[in-house]
Amino acid sequence: MSGLIKSDIDSDGVATIVWDMQDYPMNVLSEESLRAFEAEWRAHQNNDDVKGVVITSAREAFIVGADINMLWRMRAWPAAEVFAQNQVLNRFFREIETAPKPTVAAINGDALGGGFELALACRYRVISDRDGIKLGLPEVMLGLLPGAGGTQRLGRILGPKEALPYLTTGKNMRAQKALGFGVVHDIAPADGLVAAAKKAILEGKVPAKAPWDEKGFRFPGGAPHSRDWTQTFAGGGSMLRRETQGNYPSPQRIMACVYHGLQLPMDKALSYEGRQFTALFMGPTSRNLIRTGWFGRNAANKLEKRPKGVPETTFTKVGVIGAGVMGAGIASCTAAGGCDVVLLDISEEAAAKGKQHVIDYFARQAAKGRMTKEKAEAIAARVKPSTDYKDLEGAQMTIEAVFEDRGIKAKVTAATEAVTASDHVFGTNTSTLPITGLAEAAERPEEFIGVHFFSPVEKMPLVEIIRGEKTSDHAAAVAMDYVKMIKKTPIVVNDARGFYTSRVFGTYTREGFMMLSEGVSPAVIENVGKATGMPMGPLELIDMVGIDTGHKITHETIKEVGRDVMAARGEPFEALDVLDWIVEEVERPGQKAGKGFYDYDGDNKKTRIWPGVYERFPTKNSDVDVDELKKRFLHIQALETLRCMEEGVVTAADDADVGSIFGWGFAPCHGGVISYVENIGLPQFLKECEALAETYGKRFEPPQLLRDMAARGQRFYPDEEIPAHAAE
Ligand code: NAD
Repeated sequence: MSGLIKSDIDSDGVATIVWDMQDYPMNVLSEESLRAFEAEWRAHQNNDDVKGVVITSAREAFIVGADINMLWRMRAWPAAEVFAQNQVLNRFFREIETAPKPTVAAINGDALGGGFELALACRYRVISDRDGIKLGLPEVMLGLLPGAGGTQRLGRILGPKEALPYLTTGKNMRAQKALGFGVVHDIAPADGLVAAAKKAILEGKVPAKAPWDEKGFRFPGGAPHSRDWTQTFAGGGSMLRRETQGNYPSPQRIMACVYHGLQLPMDKALSYEGRQFTALFMGPTSRNLIRTGWFGRNAANKLEKRPKGVPETTFTKVGVIGAGVMGAGIASCTAAGGCDVVLLDISEEAAAKGKQHVIDYFARQAAKGRMTKEKAEAIAARVKPSTDYKDLEGAQMTIEAVFEDRGIKAKVTAATEAVTASDHVFGTNTSTLPITGLAEAAERPEEFIGVHFFSPVEKMPLVEIIRGEKTSDHAAAVAMDYVKMIKKTPIVVNDARGFYTSRVFGTYTREGFMMLSEGVSPAVIENVGKATGMPMGPLELIDMVGIDTGHKITHETIKEVGRDVMAARGEPFEALDVLDWIVEEVERPGQKAGKGFYDYDGDNKKTRIWPGVYERFPTKNSDVDVDELKKRFLHIQALETLRCMEEGVVTAADDADVGSIFGWGFAPCHGGVISYVENIGLPQFLKECEALAETYGKRFEPPQLLRDMAARGQRFYPDEEIPAHAAE
């Protein structure tokens, strides 16, 4: 038919509409598919021979949500038009819900976002018993809310208390749970799913009205303004505030939709939801989250910047040298990607310890129900512990994660090159040593590259790939293929001290040290850090990463770069005094030692800020300007990023944004470091940095790149239409 959906009517007079969007990877709600679906559904409604309609999909998933490209284009529309369009969709879904002829959703696979909302608008829902099918409303992750009735229908089925966690976090629901909740009415075998849906129609199982259209309908969990209701909204509101720090408007608006909407008749409720949706849609947070969390990350995952002309690598064997904290994690991810791994260390004992980490990690995954025991064992079995370089023969790539020592790394490089083929790529997971220098130890420096993982490796989504001066396109392409194979997100940067991520991340903690030395209360520093949208305060973060590591890196940098050069660049040495004090004087290296800026209990959980910090840095100024502190934390990271761009370390704004959010957790609400600048506007940001430089010194001085771009009226994302912000 349309190449989007198919439809037929069986001899019993039941019509089936099958979503099957040929040119798309999955079924999505786009202008075209919705138009085609609506026409088909209406034709069946108007056909006297049809008793009812079943909706299903011919793809693995049912429907996975709205077409994000369509949403992005709609950002250029005026708010009134967005709202009007939203209401057109809602009226159609409401028509499905209230039509005399029943419509039944036969959910054969994942039903997410608008796809789940369409199913919820059907008066009867059957789900396949196939393993792992997900139902969910993930709109909140894009800074939006389910705007096609999701907050209202799920709210009415589950009641506010049960519905809000699904709506405000976007978490998924599985079939059994959905059946228990009454979100679906039946579970049927995958091959009898449509038959079960048809049977429900023919046997009159589909109610004539949705429950909320019946007189006297009551949703579960207490009437409006009952004790339960009050507790849910009062408690939930403060919990959300704590978690979002007011940086994410969507959970708040979702709560408002449930609170107000559930007290209104359905049609009015849908209009209220539509208004809330429109406000979020027009606001900056959804734009930021969609731009970087969706488009930027997808482009990186699809390797859009992979050098052209290099054939795709099929990995059968990858070597990992050094079976310590990082190496064992890298081995886990590589094995999970489907490839054999040789995990090599200096002693059998060390290699075996690394392998044990892999076994334990996957056993835990199986215990948590994330995979079967058999799968966990099969993955771990791919990792071969070794002490013999000969085992690396035939590997397409090897990654070293041995001690951070040039000499050791040089020996490992030479030993690996001696047994591997000429197109084998050698990756180093060094966190600080420039790649070009390390590549001097290689016979084939063109096949030498930085592959920088973050700790804990299994959990952190980003890998920073660093090209040395001589690194070839081939090596870059192979490294990118490898990151794709292990299902992480790559960004490619050029060589420099600290590369991109470590260098910028360091400015956040350093600014925290500066505040400490100025006499800002440590508790204020931590709270303001979190209030900016960063995942933790700077002191907690450095405790976790290792204060001793930061101390070592800073001193090595001083040794190699020179104190004078750093001073000329505006390095604030008061921050170094804080580092020296905590590591050398009071010997508190961080969380792993159970003592850092915080105290830790026996389970290594933080208990309080160590009172010694207050003694050493007495609070001088309790009347702080919180907005200015926030600005310092975020501006300093953005400035360092701009310097990285000016120096050619980072070559594209989207790489910088993706790297910042997925690498060190830069406040996602801003869309990343460069989007942050873009949101403020370059000329305004420039002005603010100049003011900060005047008060706090050279480190806030704007780089020439910023001055030039601001003067020319240039932007980092020039092709985007950024509408005037509606108030969120
Ligand atoms: P680690 O001390 O836990 O592990 C290092 C391993 O290398 C040990 O098992 C050791 O036995 C082995 N090793 C040492 N010399 C060897 C040799 N000649 N041949 C084979 N194996 C040898 O260290 P780690 O924390 O895993 O760090 C490893 C590398 O990763 C370092 O370069 C580090 O800078 C980098 N890195 C660490 C982190 C982190 O957070 N820990 C993050 C990014 C990068």
